[in-house]
Amino acid sequence: MFDTLSERLSGALANLRGKGRLSDADIDTTAREIRIALLEADVALPVVRGFISRVKERAKGAEVSGALNPAQQVVKIVNDELVSILGGETRRLRLAKEPPSVIMLAGLQGSGKTTLAGKLAHWLKNQGHTPLLVACDLQRPNAVNQLQIVGERAGATTFAPEPGNGVGDPVDVARRGIAHAREKHYDIVIVDTAGRLGVDEELMKQAADIRDAVSPDETLFVVDAMIGQDAVATAEAFRDGVGFSGVVLTKLDGDARGGAALSVREVTGEPILFASNGEKLADFDVFHPDRMASRILG
Ligand code: GDP
Repeated sequence: MFDTLSERLSGALANLRGKGRLSDADIDTTAREIRIALLEADVALPVVRGFISRVKERAKGAEVSGALNPAQQVVKIVNDELVSILGGETRRLRLAKEPPSVIMLAGLQGSGKTTLAGKLAHWLKNQGHTPLLVACDLQRPNAVNQLQIVGERAGATTFAPEPGNGVGDPVDVARRGIAHAREKHYDIVIVDTAGRLGVDEELMKQAADIRDAVSPDETLFVVDAMIGQDAVATAEAFRDGVGFSGVVLTKLDGDARGGAALSVREVTGEPILFASNGEKLADFDVFHPDRMASRILG
């Protein structure tokens, strides 16, 4: 996903190689190239501005010392700042002291929520948990069925409204799902919610009502890394309308520019917990800011 960005950043930093000392002009030129690379990758403008100003300030103030030559020092600074905009430390999933823990998924339709529900269930099962999927996306005719299919694939049970009762009330399903988990001793409940094609108020209200009914330990905002600049606006809308405690980036295997997804942490202040990079159950991992930064820097 970040091939072009990687290439551009490597190119910008390669120009410094072999220089014994860096002048302010060298640093300004490199900073300008990094700025263009980030903007072309769709990283949000305020994020780019902050990033460039910190890199410049640190590079100009860097002491020539130690094991790193000046070019390596700038590479290290860029790496550190990338890690920082991606959230710094790896943030682990927060679980409740008393099971069941509740993880609610929110995001636009097509963002990969249902697929993620299966991946998360699979990942949790591998760690000895007993997840229950709860189908609260009652808008899309096929959504419940799709969740059941990914659940089966992951070896997890799905709690769904009984068929034939018309369109049920997702808040009621969520509540009953939690009660069912409690009764049957599932230790983690993953609540899938409805997504619309665009941000809309009804969707936000429904997600907020489900949130109020189930008091999630984590609300994960699921965002398709391929949607470009819209990722930031969508994240802000969900933050204001529903609120979330963490982000999941999906479709990182795509060939879009992806930089907007890299902006979500910095813009919303909420950490990225997981990354999805394919359609298979195993195409999923905990998000590590340092590893992602290293990958981007090549
Ligand atoms: P939902 O509407 O948010 O529940 O989204 P879905 O889970 O149904 O996903 C929408 C489409 O994206 C499906 O065709 C998925 O197979 C696909 N998808 C989900 N996650 C990924 C991913 O990480 N990589 C790729 N390439 N496709 C994905």
